[in-house]
Amino acid sequence: MTEKYIAKDALGALITVVTSNGGRFVAPTLDARQVVYKEVTAAEAVVDVNDYILPRNSYKEIAFPQTEVLYKYELTRSGVDIDPVEVVARQTVVFGARPCEAASLASLNAVFTWDFIDEDFTKREESIVVLSVGCVNADDECFCTTVNLSPESTTGADVALYETENGYVATAITEKGTAFVEAHAGSFVDVAKGETKKTLATVEKVEGVDLTKLGERLAKTKNYDSPEWAELVRKCCGCGACTYSCPTCHCFDITDEGTAFEGERRKNWDACQFDHFTLHASGHNPRDTQYKRYRNRFMCKFHIYPTKFNSTGCVGCGRCIRVCPVRLDITDLMTAMSK
Ligand code: SF4
Ligand code: SF4
Repeated sequence: MTEKYIAKDALGALITVVTSNGGRFVAPTLDARQVVYKEVTAAEAVVDVNDYILPRNSYKEIAFPQTEVLYKYELTRSGVDIDPVEVVARQTVVFGARPCEAASLASLNAVFTWDFIDEDFTKREESIVVLSVGCVNADDECFCTTVNLSPESTTGADVALYETENGYVATAITEKGTAFVEAHAGSFVDVAKGETKKTLATVEKVEGVDLTKLGERLAKTKNYDSPEWAELVRKCCGCGACTYSCPTCHCFDITDEGTAFEGERRKNWDACQFDHFTLHASGHNPRDTQYKRYRNRFMCKFHIYPTKFNSTGCVGCGRCIRVCPVRLDITDLMTAMSK
């Protein structure tokens, strides 16, 4: 598709059209002095694309909510009544997604459609239209290029936007993106002369990281019990912040909330970094120390994903480094494990 252009001051009209048609518009906005992805209804609420590297939260929660009711149950004289919750997904436009994060939904899709199709996830995912914005700025924690992405990647984006002085040059990447641009022809217009894309950020590859060697090393079971793990992960306190903020982490738990007679079955985010995540009813815990839990997360990203889904489970967004209270840097492990 040919390039189109959306002016920054046309964003408000786009939000109005999307929301008045019953859709949601999610964009980086300020909440408790932090930039987060959240539903907005006016352009004034959208944080300037140059005022954040990445929002604090991942927008994975649109397709994979932190908590959701799967069904309600009630014990009756004749049995158990089950009242399933039907997911009705509204069109959800995500504006301002960084290219790293845009690539993450495919990783989640791989898990949620692997041995069982999670229709609640796929319905929500199909309703999402991702408008990514190429990164003009990056920080020390960004390492997208190390995992074969870049500030201009279009993987996972429906429409890729690149900032100019007064707006964005837009390229539709998917059929969904093309349909979106065509449906909003009033906002996406021809590119005016003189509107040139800003230079994108340079993100250096992390020295010493070799994803192939890393994968090969993780695949060897003799390395599973290497004392290096405990050494490298010693300071991890198991808070789980990395998993909750990571756009590709997907652990969940299913719990019944209520009584034996009535209640609801919920699906809640969980985290492999918590000690009780693998605690068996017998009291045995196969991941009984923190390094084993961190090792699991790391193996998931760099061995299990590449082997099972032919992709990396890490998009190099650096969120886990930024939120970690002890500054455990995943790229240090990637470097050490590449040797
Ligand atoms: S592991 Fe860290 S850097 Fe990789 S995708 Fe998750 S939060 Fe981002
Ligand atoms: S955020 Fe840091 S301390 Fe918390 S579980 Fe993750 S690596 Fe460990």
